[in-house]
Amino acid sequence: MKKACVWLAIISAIVLLITLGVVGVKLLDGNYDTTAEVIITGISFVIFLGSVACYKFIGSRCPHCGKVNDTLLGKSKFCPHCGKEI
Ligand SMILES: [Zn+2]
Repeated sequence: MKKACVWLAIISAIVLLITLGVVGVKLLDGNYDTTAEVIITGISFVIFLGSVACYKFIGSRCPHCGKVNDTLLGKSKFCPHCGKEI
């Protein structure tokens, strides 16, 4: 679950950078027909924010007590709420 969020964040960040690059190149080239790229940029930005939120809030949730392990952003091996290994 957490890994899926990380991969989604990485992929959407790459798509975001590529589309931003394409928009930049097109604008520099005098081509202002960038509606599709702007839409893709917006979508990938939303996916990126969503996957970061997923990683922070859902991905770091303790499988034993269900509480969010927010102290170390999920890096801790043990849950700070119930003490069980994650
Ligand atoms: Zn716990």
